[in-house]
Amino acid sequence: MANLHLQNLPMAESGSAGTSVEDWKKAFLWNLYYVLGRFPETASLNDKYLALAHSVRERLLDRWVKTSETYYRKKARTACYLSAEFLLGPHLGNNLLNLGAYDEAKQAMEELGFNFEDLLDQEEEPGLGNGGLGRLAACYVDSMATLEIPAVGHGIRYEFGIFDQVIRDGWQVEIADKWLRLGNPWEIPRPEIAMTVGLGGHTEHYTDENGRYRVRWIPQRLVKGIAHDTPILGFRVNTANMLRLWRAEAVNSFDFQSFNTGDYYGAVEEKVGSETISKVLYPNDSGLEGKQLRLEQQYFLVSCALQDMMRITLQTAPDPSHFHEKYAVQLNDTHPAVAVAELMRLLVDEYGMDWEPAWEVTRRTMGYTNHTLLPEALEKWPIGLFESVLPRHLEIIFEINRRFIDEVRARYPGDDERVRRLSLIDETGGRSIRMAHLACVGSHAINGVATLHSELLKHEVLRDFNDMWPEKFFNVTNGVTPRRFLMLTNPGLTKLVSDAIGDGWTRDLDKLRLLEAKADELAFRDAWRSVKRQCREAFAAEILKKTGITTDPASLFDVQVKRFHEYKRQHLNVLHIITLYHRLKRDPHCDAPARTVVFAGKAAPGYMMAKLIIKLIHAVADIVNNDRAIAGRLRVAFVPDYNVKNSQRIFPGADLSEQISTAGKEASGTGNMKFAMNGALTIGTLDGANVEIRDAVGAENFFLFGMTVDEVQRRLAECYRPYEHYRSDEELKEAIDAIADGAFSNGDRELFRPIVDNLLGTDPYMVLADYRSYIDCQDKVGRAWREPERWTRASILNVARIGQFTSDRAIGDYCRDIWHINPVKVAE
Ligand SMILES: *Cc1c(COP(=O)(O)O)cnc(C)c1O
Repeated sequence: MANLHLQNLPMAESGSAGTSVEDWKKAFLWNLYYVLGRFPETASLNDKYLALAHSVRERLLDRWVKTSETYYRKKARTACYLSAEFLLGPHLGNNLLNLGAYDEAKQAMEELGFNFEDLLDQEEEPGLGNGGLGRLAACYVDSMATLEIPAVGHGIRYEFGIFDQVIRDGWQVEIADKWLRLGNPWEIPRPEIAMTVGLGGHTEHYTDENGRYRVRWIPQRLVKGIAHDTPILGFRVNTANMLRLWRAEAVNSFDFQSFNTGDYYGAVEEKVGSETISKVLYPNDSGLEGKQLRLEQQYFLVSCALQDMMRITLQTAPDPSHFHEKYAVQLNDTHPAVAVAELMRLLVDEYGMDWEPAWEVTRRTMGYTNHTLLPEALEKWPIGLFESVLPRHLEIIFEINRRFIDEVRARYPGDDERVRRLSLIDETGGRSIRMAHLACVGSHAINGVATLHSELLKHEVLRDFNDMWPEKFFNVTNGVTPRRFLMLTNPGLTKLVSDAIGDGWTRDLDKLRLLEAKADELAFRDAWRSVKRQCREAFAAEILKKTGITTDPASLFDVQVKRFHEYKRQHLNVLHIITLYHRLKRDPHCDAPARTVVFAGKAAPGYMMAKLIIKLIHAVADIVNNDRAIAGRLRVAFVPDYNVKNSQRIFPGADLSEQISTAGKEASGTGNMKFAMNGALTIGTLDGANVEIRDAVGAENFFLFGMTVDEVQRRLAECYRPYEHYRSDEELKEAIDAIADGAFSNGDRELFRPIVDNLLGTDPYMVLADYRSYIDCQDKVGRAWREPERWTRASILNVARIGQFTSDRAIGDYCRDIWHINPVKVAE
């Protein structure tokens, strides 16, 4: 601790570029002193975390300024990723990794006497997303920077992100996510970059000085959007791109009129009202939230982002007709789809362009990524609600629709049924706007997120659009960043791989294929097994810390972590656990290997069935874990508060990845990729990207079960009767009866009745139809685990062949097929 004394502090300089151990120490002490106003002896853990974070930030800013200067000078065409969610995960470790200075910073902190892990752990998760969709956006900004693509992410700076999950008596309880409480060292507020966003009001139609028909929107309310920028550093490059998150603020903090008349609270009211727009993330994953505030959030994001882009376009272009040359805008699902109408409004109303050229600019700008086939997640806004928030945009959408319908009628004369299906307006029940249709019509490119999903889009959900414009349709299979989800989370495996094949794979993940040659070396397999064993030990320690449940690191770690949703079928997994339990009770000598089944995931607060499934998992765990008769053979644990930070402690320790959705329901999945990248084998259905993962790693290294999409559709058409499965399958009946009879609820037969009734009644996700196939497949898993050499070989091959699932490949696809954007190098 000798060098921690004040007289040793470098008072004059922070040394903001170097990354040697000495540079980090200097920078740390300088920041602790000058930024935080602390001295080492009394600094809290958070002070120390902040001091290190600010030291890293200085190094990012250096690259960031050079990056923006380069883009400005080269007038770079820029990708703009518009997303209501960015599920980033902690920045500190990732930035150090990308800087190439992780080990130096770690050593510096240790030499100063601090525990580096504790410093990393101090960072709050910026949980500005629900699950896969938001995490995808975060992987994509990482990859865009790494590939040196001029790019900006635009999102919302929610004051409260996704809730923290705690478990009380087996039930999920939601706690507000106060992620900004201790400060956020990664963001730079830009109070001067402020956009005014209108809401409500009415429109006026007039003739301008040139005799042209024009429309003026008179909003009832104005809200200010303030930019908050976070630098996103690429991996071992000088590029630091920008994630720009918008925070809502009142245009005037006080309405002085009301203030002067003595209505102090009335004056504050407007301020409070405006700020609610960016107050909280809606916690629904793949589900609709038809609230006015949600629409206001969507429009707020879109309007701020497009106004900002327009401002920048006009810095170099003579007029807004060049907008699409400067920007490629990608819509991450339909949440930002109102961008189509907003860009039209800006071009036509604000900049006086004619409709046709404005429409050309809009269509050439926008690309739309569809993320779901679930009907309940396809966004629709009731016309009345939409009009009350965005009256001018409704007019624009009607006009887009009028022209579009004319086009449809010209193409398909007399086909009124087709017109009805394609219309942007759904006329059934109360009229509503189909946001996916708006996005399709207003974009030049439409893509799904896995091959199977893109095919289902073309031939089912968006079939009529595909008939009209087949050239608009693309597939871009999702990917995940190997920086965060392999190098950062799994240093043991990273080192083993690099020692074996060099570190070329860290820049080009396809080079992992060099591992194939190692899969047959006994010594390498031994080393691989030993790394996986260490990972399980760390995971077991984490499970113990979070749940108090002890697990055996020698057992098979069977893991399902993802949002809770019936289509993801965590309850199918539970039926397997109960079946195994019954077998172990009946025959303690049966040949099933010891298994630890781990769950984690949040349920939307209003999704009762999902919350009841969480309760069921805890109830089953309680019985199984405390049953002496099967001691150690089967354990069940639920790790609370699944988020990016916690996930990084889960993937490395997994042996088996559960990807068991009903075929046709999971658009892609990305958890499946993170697991395989860490050497877990998958048990899965032919759904989403599972199909491509299986093709890549080899059918013999993947445990396939269940109905195909075609079989699911056929069974549904034939009128599916789940009860038949219950009646005819002894083990299934026994498992469901145990739940129904209260075996896991102290004899309470009511508690889980909704689950039992749902499964025996309609079973909308066909859990029972896939039960037998799943159980038999799990038996195969058990037998394979009993052959460690075979298992290890398969694990190595999963990693060796996972290269195509990097988000770098996905971003390469977007750049080539949809955005037509090339890298721009940033000099040192
Ligand atoms: C990757 C990830 C997801 C998506 O998981 P799926 O299994 O693809 O649904 C959700 N949440 C977090 C925190 C993730 O890291």
